[in-house]
Amino acid sequence: MRNVAEVGELCTGCGTCVAICPPGVISMEINHDRGVYEPVITGGCDGCGLCLRVCPGIEVDLADLNMRVFGREPDDPLLGNYEACYVGHSMDDKIRYDSSSGGMITQILLYLLEEGLIDGALVTRMNPERPLEPEPFIARTPEDIIEARGSKYCPVPANVALREIIEEPGRYAVVGLPCHIHGIRKAQKFNRKLRERIVYHLGIVCNHTPTFKATLFLLERVGVKPEDVQGIHYRGEGWPGSLRVETGSGDILLLPEYWGSGFGQLFMPGRCRMCCDHMAELSDMSFADPWLKEFEDEKKGRTLIIQRKHPEILQKISGICEIEPIEPQKVLLSQLYNIYMKKKVHKLNNGIYHGNFPEVDSVDRIIFRLDPDRLKIPFSLKRRYEYLYSVAVSLKARKDFSGDSK
Ligand SMILES: Cc1cc2nc3c(=O)[nH]c(=O)nc-3n(C[C@H](O)[C@H](O)[C@H](O)COP(=O)(O)OP(=O)(O)OC[C@H]3O[C@@H](n4cnc5c(N)ncnc54)[C@H](O)[C@@H]3O)c2cc1C
Ligand code: SF4
Ligand code: SF4
Repeated sequence: MRNVAEVGELCTGCGTCVAICPPGVISMEINHDRGVYEPVITGGCDGCGLCLRVCPGIEVDLADLNMRVFGREPDDPLLGNYEACYVGHSMDDKIRYDSSSGGMITQILLYLLEEGLIDGALVTRMNPERPLEPEPFIARTPEDIIEARGSKYCPVPANVALREIIEEPGRYAVVGLPCHIHGIRKAQKFNRKLRERIVYHLGIVCNHTPTFKATLFLLERVGVKPEDVQGIHYRGEGWPGSLRVETGSGDILLLPEYWGSGFGQLFMPGRCRMCCDHMAELSDMSFADPWLKEFEDEKKGRTLIIQRKHPEILQKISGICEIEPIEPQKVLLSQLYNIYMKKKVHKLNNGIYHGNFPEVDSVDRIIFRLDPDRLKIPFSLKRRYEYLYSVAVSLKARKDFSGDSK
């Protein structure tokens, strides 16, 4: 391969190549047929190959990157390297209610900025001019950070904003999905400025990113034409939250807890079906929804936190966030299905990820072969087949992983 134009369907759409390209001739454009971003070469490529070396789409050496980041391979192949786990939420009710789960990411960024520990944070808001497209940017004020709160369930090329970190001296935090963090960690191997200037890496636990087609599907469900959308918020309104769409005529439409209705398998990009990192293992801290029985009556929101580095932050924000320890095993239980799929089934699907993976047995191989996406199942039977498949996966995941996590 000469440059990332040839990465094709292995591309995660992270945007790292755009920021790292020395002559700056790569840009991210939406492929409307596939509903994802892809890199496009817009000028004279000199063939240096740096874009390919930082690309997490084609290879992620988790073993090597763990050694660089933590000084050791993880002794837990499911959660990665970590020191402790917590459940917490912002004590500011508005931040908590408007964010994805408990507003912990937003609150930590506000603390880091207000204490002068960072000059800016790489976050993502929806583009004010094109409300259905995300806009990664460097937030430099509390208002910017609050504006970017909430999960964006559409493709996000967050790492294009690394360019500003390379160009502007300072100390920065970054917020990204596992594949964004992979791109950043790989880029830091080659770029001293990114290594020195990014001082906090906040990772978002990720099952998959729905394509843009998922958003179009949801807009159809609430009866809004894409061109009439003035604003879209995928999470917020308490926990687990609603899709909120604002239209030109001033209407506000809410679609509560819509995940089951189309944000599942149907709109999952092919690259996410190969992904083997659910927990953002290379971040300093990972953040997730508390999908646990004990929180099923939760209305305002709480965030699960896997703390891998910087224990001091969680101590220092105790006046503005309520935080308590939680057993790592519970964090694992909250994501069991997705971790099983990523660590066993997806691992069998490709050779992109290298590192410490749990052993695969003959039942895992059968589950891999019976994956509904690999088989041609008649439409009339598809739903029932998928349900039975998910039951089989849940049973196997429980059998394999419900012991101690370390
Ligand atoms: C695509 C996606 C898939 C997810 N899958 C799971 C899952 O399977 N299980 C689970 O428990 N949790 C999942 N999450 C995480 C969950 O939705 C929350 O983000 C997490 O619990 C943190 O909540 P919070 O209230 O602390 O975040 P907030 O305080 O609301 O802050 C969220 C931060 O993340 C940034 N951000 C939002 N979306 C993106 C994006 N797509 N790319 C890069 N940055 C972004 C925002 O700019 C903001 O700074 C997913 C999130 C996303 C975006
Ligand atoms: S660096 Fe990211 S955006 Fe660029 S080709 Fe690789 S995966 Fe795609
Ligand atoms: S599943 Fe993996 S590749 Fe897909 S968006 Fe999430 S982290 Fe990126």
